Amino acid sequence: MLLRALTAAALAVTLFTMGVAAQNNAGAVVAAASKAMGADTLNAITYSGTARNGAFGQSKAIGNPMHPNNVTRVTQYTRTIDFGQAANPMALVSRATGPTQPPVVPNVPPPMPGVFNQNITGQQASTNWGQALNIWTTPWGFLKGAAANNATVRQQGGQQVVSFSPANFKSPSGQTYTVTGYINNQNLVTKVETRVENAVVGDLLVEFEYSSYQNLNGVQVPGRIVQKQAGLQTFDAAITAATANPGNLAELLTPPPAPGGGGGGGAPAQQAAGPAVNKLGEGVFWIGGNYASIAVDMGDHIFLVESGGSDARGQAVAAAAKQAIPGKPIRFVVNSHPHFDHASGLRAAAAEGATILMHRNSADAMERLLSGPGTLGGDSLSKAAGRRVNVQGIGDREVRRGSNGKVVEIHRVAASEHSDSQVLVYLPAEKLAYTADTPVAGMPNPNQIQVLRSTLGLSDSQKLQWEQMIPSHAINPERAVPRAEVQKLLPAPATN
Ligand SMILES: [Zn+2]
Repeated sequence: MLLRALTAAALAVTLFTMGVAAQNNAGAVVAAASKAMGADTLNAITYSGTARNGAFGQSKAIGNPMHPNNVTRVTQYTRTIDFGQAANPMALVSRATGPTQPPVVPNVPPPMPGVFNQNITGQQASTNWGQALNIWTTPWGFLKGAAANNATVRQQGGQQVVSFSPANFKSPSGQTYTVTGYINNQNLVTKVETRVENAVVGDLLVEFEYSSYQNLNGVQVPGRIVQKQAGLQTFDAAITAATANPGNLAELLTPPPAPGGGGGGGAPAQQAAGPAVNKLGEGVFWIGGNYASIAVDMGDHIFLVESGGSDARGQAVAAAAKQAIPGKPIRFVVNSHPHFDHASGLRAAAAEGATILMHRNSADAMERLLSGPGTLGGDSLSKAAGRRVNVQGIGDREVRRGSNGKVVEIHRVAASEHSDSQVLVYLPAEKLAYTADTPVAGMPNPNQIQVLRSTLGLSDSQKLQWEQMIPSHAINPERAVPRAEVQKLLPAPATN
């Protein structure tokens, strides 16, 4: 007994010593890399070149964020970072900008050049990991973070792998974040990665790869930067110039006065619980609000159309559906298209036990994206023990019939350049259509006209004789849109 206790104590001492050694070694590794890279004396940096920015979670093919329809070229890309403490939390500590050439999409009028903006304030850099990671994962920010946060090191494939958890950051579920960087035998940072909570992916892996290093004014700067999210490339840059500790730092971090705020796709606003529910027909209920849903009583189960734009909305939609159609499980949910703003409630539907139906073009990619753990955000799926994501790919036309005879049809909108997996849901008995991101007002462009013709059943073999359309994005005031109103958006047929 005594011997065993002694052995355990000796083991504990050994482990403790090894832990301290790992930290000491990490200190030496980080110090050597900081010196070699010129990060020691770096308080701020500005670097420039060209970049290509994809559309993670919003691309035509959801597994390819760099689809030609979705790549915006930044023709003169400049990023400036201040690694010092910001005196004013509202002041910018990181700013990336430059003129853009947006993608050219078939049958869509050529886009106007724009301006790229990725601005991070001192407050965001110290409280919001989704923003702050863009500083901590730069080669120099990584080394500064590792030096300040008790990093540890291990060897892997000839590289030193250094990890640390930044103090003062906690995920929504109370976990720490981890930053891991790879340092090669020339003391250069080749890759930095971390994870951040994401409503669709769960614990989203974000990676930055750095290569083709060049010594620019005493600082080692990667000539190529590649960003990946969930393993998919989303951004790359070719860097040709850099200045350490620029004298005009304040000017570089000040955006020009501009009408309208800087872009940057934020998460959709959270919906209040308890959405309005309207009966559309026997056993058919419209769950109102933005990212509207429809719940259909199929006799022995509930069939749901769309499950909202956030985990909270997904839970509210499921609760409203079960209240409208009591005593039945939600077995299926149709996803209108896999863009993340329309997919952020799918994990909540999976937590209910629902099988996700989406067009087969995206089923495999989305099952992979949706299936990761969600420990950082602590979403409903991560709390539903034993539940897993089940995505079922469907074809261009799918008909589901309930045990009570209720029919739900799902049709692909093949003309869409917006998504290769866009579907509309048609309820023939109720003469209803549910659509997402299909124009219901204004002047549709030629691609949207093709989408509308398909939605009206004019360009497909099947006749879709709906009389009312429920748009996923609520119009103001919220109402169903009559067929005649949609038909009026089409250009008048030429007469002569
Ligand atoms: Zn969309």
